Amino acid sequence: MNLKNYVRDIPDFPKEGIVFKDITPALKSPEAFKYTIDSFQELVKDWDFDAIIGPESRGFIYSTPMAYNLNKPFIPVRKPGKLPAETISFSYDLEYGSGILEMHKDAISKGDKVIIVDDILATGGTTEAIIKLVEKAGGKVVGALFLAELTSLNPREKLTEIKVESLIKY
Ligand code: IMP
Repeated sequence: MNLKNYVRDIPDFPKEGIVFKDITPALKSPEAFKYTIDSFQELVKDWDFDAIIGPESRGFIYSTPMAYNLNKPFIPVRKPGKLPAETISFSYDLEYGSGILEMHKDAISKGDKVIIVDDILATGGTTEAIIKLVEKAGGKVVGALFLAELTSLNPREKLTEIKVESLIKY
């Protein structure tokens, strides 16, 4: 399965000059989606972790089937103002702009080991912010999985403390 055939470039989205990787064809194809989830599960089969974090919103799509299949808790990380209970937050830089991410304060217990599952690893800023959020909550991110990685942005320079795996590299 060549997953690159299921990711398309959309020029000037969401802003002029940005070439957006659109992963919706990799969801429209049941074969590509199954291959993605199966590949992720194969990659983590020897990893020791307690829960799976999915960053809003495309991260939800890839993390919840894994939580279901592996019988692990799913923890959403969201943009500000979306989570109803008490939250902790962290500010971060994006490829295009900056943002804040939130997680429920009680989502993670002290000492919990978690993994992150998302669609695209670009600058690594989002993943780095989630690592800090989890640390604030007393847990630890042990690894992260991505459908695709934009290697030219050198995201791994920010993520030296965790295991990082991506199925496609650009
Ligand atoms: P980073 O924080 O720069 O690594 O960006 C990663 C986050 O932004 C992920 O949550 C992605 O969903 C989103 N993102 C960044 N670039 C793209 C893209 O080209 N296509 C789809 N999502 C992207």
